[in-house]
Amino acid sequence: MVIPKFLFQAIRQRANFRCEYCHYPEILSSAPLSVEHLKPQSLGGDDSLDNLALACRRCNERRYNFTTGIDPQTETEIPLFNPRQQIWTEHFIWSADSLRIIGQTDTGRATCNRLDLNDDRRDEPFIQNARRQWLVAGLHPSADDPQEQQK
Ligand SMILES: [Zn+2]
Repeated sequence: MVIPKFLFQAIRQRANFRCEYCHYPEILSSAPLSVEHLKPQSLGGDDSLDNLALACRRCNERRYNFTTGIDPQTETEIPLFNPRQQIWTEHFIWSADSLRIIGQTDTGRATCNRLDLNDDRRDEPFIQNARRQWLVAGLHPSADDPQEQQK
């Protein structure tokens, strides 16, 4: 997919230069974040601004062609979080220590599960280790949105 530069810029700005799923800040990356299709091209999704989202490589690869995930609480298949139609803070919060993203709704939980937003399925929680360093550097995304933080 070749996204025209002006469109790529618009997508990055709209996302506040963060992954729209895990809020990974682009400034921490050695390369621009990627653009993904909310409705996959294989399912007829187009290149319109409304169908595109900014995502880190990690979330992009884990989302792959999936549009749903399992909410572990209800064991129900739920559509994944859609940053064009839903508001992040209504579905996710940061844990008090800012290391974990916690799904607050069936959508949030299914998305955390599908994208493994806290590396719960890895032997080592790389993303939580990274978030600890972001805190030290003052670059943790929760700093931009203090209302995201769990009270
Ligand atoms: Zn991400």
